[in-house]
Amino acid sequence: MIKKTWAKWQSGHIGRLLGESFRNQGWLYGIAMIAMVVVAATTAGTAWMMENIVNAMTEPEMRGQVYLIAAAVLALFFGKAAASYVQAVFLARAGNRIIAVQQERLYAKLIKRGVGFFSKNESSSLLMRVTQGAQAARRLVDVIVTSFVRDLLTLIGLVFVMIYQQPLLSVLFFIVGPVALISVRFLLKQVRSIMKSEMKSLSEIYKVLQETSGGITIIKVFSLEDHMAGRMNNAVRSVEKRANSIAKLQSIASPLMEFLAGLAIAAILVISTIGFAGSEPTTAGQLMSFITALLMAYEPAKRLSKMRVVIETTLVPIDMMFSLLDEEEPMRESPDAKPLAPGPGEIRLRDLNFGYAGKPNVISDMNLTFQAGKTTALVGQSGGGKSTIFGLIMRFYDPDSGAVEIDGQDLQGATFESLRQKISYVGQETFLFSASIMENLRFARPDATDDEVVEAARAAHAHEFICKMEYGYDTQVGENGAFLSGGQKQRLAIARAILRKSEILLLDEATSALDAESETLVKTALEKLTENVTTIVIAHRLSTVLEADKIVVIQEGAVIEEGNLDTLIENDGMFRQLFDKQFRQPAS
Ligand code: ADP
Repeated sequence: MIKKTWAKWQSGHIGRLLGESFRNQGWLYGIAMIAMVVVAATTAGTAWMMENIVNAMTEPEMRGQVYLIAAAVLALFFGKAAASYVQAVFLARAGNRIIAVQQERLYAKLIKRGVGFFSKNESSSLLMRVTQGAQAARRLVDVIVTSFVRDLLTLIGLVFVMIYQQPLLSVLFFIVGPVALISVRFLLKQVRSIMKSEMKSLSEIYKVLQETSGGITIIKVFSLEDHMAGRMNNAVRSVEKRANSIAKLQSIASPLMEFLAGLAIAAILVISTIGFAGSEPTTAGQLMSFITALLMAYEPAKRLSKMRVVIETTLVPIDMMFSLLDEEEPMRESPDAKPLAPGPGEIRLRDLNFGYAGKPNVISDMNLTFQAGKTTALVGQSGGGKSTIFGLIMRFYDPDSGAVEIDGQDLQGATFESLRQKISYVGQETFLFSASIMENLRFARPDATDDEVVEAARAAHAHEFICKMEYGYDTQVGENGAFLSGGQKQRLAIARAILRKSEILLLDEATSALDAESETLVKTALEKLTENVTTIVIAHRLSTVLEADKIVVIQEGAVIEEGNLDTLIENDGMFRQLFDKQFRQPAS
């Protein structure tokens, strides 16, 4: 299983990441790699120099060369230090670039995704994919470049020094080395599966935190504190447990190698002192040079043997990242899409059928016309499909069959840009970005002047309360407008829609009750907004139903009744029942 994934991965993700990184940051990696070659050469050179250093100290006839050797040692160490610095700086720069590039690409991909995608994927898991995926990509390229260039070359250089100085002893190294490497290998299998479940538990931690900040009211009201704390404890402990297991597996490698190195040193002592039949007598310098090379070889060999463990830990997040990058967006603009032609804004649903993934027949064979410039109220029990109709008109989803048309033009042949221009939406909740009020309003039309924004705010009866704030239009909106009341937020949403000036308005009326003053202000603001605009409103208030030009009753994805208020009351059908139940409740 791991072998298969590994093979697939080698040919896929690794190649792709390396290819992209070298293409985009080629010169940064180029300089880092040249520096690595210098590091490898100077490291091997240092081991080799040990022979001269020890001989100069122990053999009187070599004394004359002390200054020369000292100068060479200085040059070697300086070269190694300088090259190490250059390598670290350039590798880090290239790595940081990878993180930046991947995060930009992921976000660019994410922001283009349809609304359906975001309802399917929790924000916490998206967050993980974007941040951890990019980090893992950098780690992967780092480990491959340093392993294959610096560590491998260093090892080759040192092995060369060893063979040159002590061929017999080198044989010992070549036996102990692979044994050590193989013994580390078996640890890898478990690391990957633990990593995967660790990611899941981490994601659960994010989720609990998000639900806590998002649902704190409900948590308090229903006394769910203990329940949430319990979930958090479970997730935290499970992360802790897995992290401990991973640490245990990863930590075995080093002590094992160190012990084997000790064994090797003991053997060196015995073999070089007693010697083999016919072997040359060993000088202290040669032996020292060999031991230095052997000890120096330990670090790069250890890193090389650990390379796969490190790569394995990057596998899951990178796989998640690439799956996000590569997922095809099912809702794409058709290549011959045309902008919607200017028109009065009549909307027609034609034999419309639609279902969500895992929830078929949410809309069945629906035929409905929304007259241009008029207001149509959608009423019906919750879950009937009213919001889904909005989603289809905004083309967050495509129909399974049938069509949504605006002024006779099928939305599936229209450009997204022109559709977005045509339609404004005011939802039950007003989402405010962390920016000033002025900027929040201007999102509706980025080229609007300050005066136009203020004018729209006036029309929406928002100007008065904005001016009462200490910084007026420059007031920074806290986390999603925490300090604004429901009615104020709604009026900001209406101001946005007024500024947008589109032919069609989709309005999901807020269910939450407003105080009387806010209610009146919101109502007059809406009257201004819906003038001569094709308006569809998901109605929750009696006054809205009363004032609509047409009322449509939706139930289980079908139109049950449509007509004006009088006709529907007269029909004494579904609307009458709803009307009595939902809208005529005596005020309590
Ligand atoms: P209404 O607006 O009338 O309350 P909706 O259009 O929100 O009704 O929902 C219609 C049906 O579709 C409901 O059964 C609801 O559970 C389901 N539904 C809504 N959104 C989704 C979604 N993103 N994925 C799956 N099912 C959904």
